[in-house]
Amino acid sequence: MALVKIKIDGKELEAEEGKTILKVAQANGIEIPTLCDHAALLPFGGCRLCVVQAGPGALKPACATPIASNMEVVTDSSEIREARMMVLQLLFGERNHYCMVCESTGQCELQDLGYKLGLDHFEFFPYEKRFSEDVTHPYILVDQNRCILCRRCVRACADVGGHWVLGVKNRGYESLIDIDMDAPFNDSSCTSCGLCVQVCPTGALVDKRASYLGRKDQADLILSRCDRCPVGCGLEVYRRSNYILKIYGDWNCPTNGGVTCRLSRYAPLYDERPRLSTPKLKEAGVWTPASAEKTARWMAGKLINAEVVVEGSLSNEDLAALKSLFGERVFSLQDVAPPLPATAKLQDLADADTYLVIGVDLNREYGTVGSLIKRRTIPGTAKLILVDDGFNSLAASTDFVFSMEDLDSALAEARKGRKVVIVYSHLRETVAEALRAESQFLRLFLPYESNTLGLAQAGIGPHIAADSERTVFFVGENLRDLKSRVRGATLVALTPFETDEVKAADLIVPIPAVFESEGSFISMDGELLRKERILEPGEGVRSVSAWVALVEAQRLQSVVAKGKQGGSQ
Ligand code: SF4
Ligand code: SF4
Ligand code: SF4
Repeated sequence: MALVKIKIDGKELEAEEGKTILKVAQANGIEIPTLCDHAALLPFGGCRLCVVQAGPGALKPACATPIASNMEVVTDSSEIREARMMVLQLLFGERNHYCMVCESTGQCELQDLGYKLGLDHFEFFPYEKRFSEDVTHPYILVDQNRCILCRRCVRACADVGGHWVLGVKNRGYESLIDIDMDAPFNDSSCTSCGLCVQVCPTGALVDKRASYLGRKDQADLILSRCDRCPVGCGLEVYRRSNYILKIYGDWNCPTNGGVTCRLSRYAPLYDERPRLSTPKLKEAGVWTPASAEKTARWMAGKLINAEVVVEGSLSNEDLAALKSLFGERVFSLQDVAPPLPATAKLQDLADADTYLVIGVDLNREYGTVGSLIKRRTIPGTAKLILVDDGFNSLAASTDFVFSMEDLDSALAEARKGRKVVIVYSHLRETVAEALRAESQFLRLFLPYESNTLGLAQAGIGPHIAADSERTVFFVGENLRDLKSRVRGATLVALTPFETDEVKAADLIVPIPAVFESEGSFISMDGELLRKERILEPGEGVRSVSAWVALVEAQRLQSVVAKGKQGGSQ
């Protein structure tokens, strides 16, 4: 783009032709008030708060007016202030904005602008009609009475998330945010990605769990990576005291650019499984709390020939600690090898024209990958071909749905593409074989868990169940079917939760839950990412590495003690 010269408030500037007045002003530290504009969204020009004088004629919205050579822009004058005040008066008058009882008070962009622009009375008596609230969604509350119809939520849901759940219905005063053509939120196609809440400037869309627990500016902001799946989305985590207020996608993270999904934003905060807060040993069939020292001694006494089986979400640091204790006898609960080697990275999704998704519901798992695909396929920029036998909610987003048996037809459709990316996780051998032959397609493998690639790099392979008299340690947060995995063995479960499933073990040992641990993992793109510790775990909870250190200390003590006994004989 060619550079052109313009003046904003008398200041001479040079900027790329075609950029909007707002973007150029912001880049040069000149403040223009906005409401419907958002850095992650395309310009909309809806609220008219950003009006400026730019050349002859009426005031123009800075967010939607491109600059031109020698343009002279004025961002502040009595005429502009009057116009902006009228917009604010209309917005406040249109719905219920009694801030005192609003969850968003103190963190609302509309309220902030009221203060900033000097709104000291209501010009228009607020429209008295009460609109509906929708409380059916498990995580999000919709209060149409606080909505200013800026449509940030509609644009974020469609253009950024690719979900296309939200719209606007009715006309004029009666305009309302619409969910899937009048569905209750909970019955809609919403994937609970939370983007709409993240961009809403008012109290119209609210995280239920965070309601009245505090404002964002009262919380610490911690940038971390999500380890709920191998995408590794960047997150903004707002922590107040020792609880999480809210979780947003990090707009500046190159992996996800602000998009994220239910698994990172909501699911961990709603995990109601009972926490294990102290080690417990099964003695004569009765669970008895044990001290850390007794627990470590007990584990140290079981190390000979013992093996450990881990989930794929364990950090590299915890894996290294376990390897130092168990040597080569560290195994994975799941497969670690891809059914077909990957040849693509996430960024290959950005300019592909065909996606062939095999057997994965990207609205439920790997949600960010789903967004990166759907935001291109639903507007028709690219084609989504889905192959699956069971229910897959992605089917609602495409006309090209095939069964596994009809894979040949799906492949024939895909061959029409210029840049085709196959997206897959587990695959049947016959399907893998058929895909292997299509060497012209790129392959994006979705590893099974967040650090599956870390396990593979550490040389950790899958565990084979067998009859065994040895002790088997299991480490993870979703442990189940322990007895069926190893019959006849002594079992130890290191886990955050005291579920009925882990009570099949002989000893249960508390480790941190998702936000209580830190460490590195290897993403699906092969990047080494770091997740931060957000919350302090309870007193009896120790990291896997800390338990390993205690067990090792006990083991050494017993070796020394045996040595002394041997020496004195
Ligand atoms: S949405 Fe904003 S302006 Fe409206 S009542 Fe809530 S805090 Fe006040
Ligand atoms: S949570 Fe996500 S999918 Fe659901 S309505 Fe909001 S933006 Fe759309
Ligand atoms: S719900 Fe929020 S983001 Fe959506 S239009 Fe209303 S005020 Fe704007």
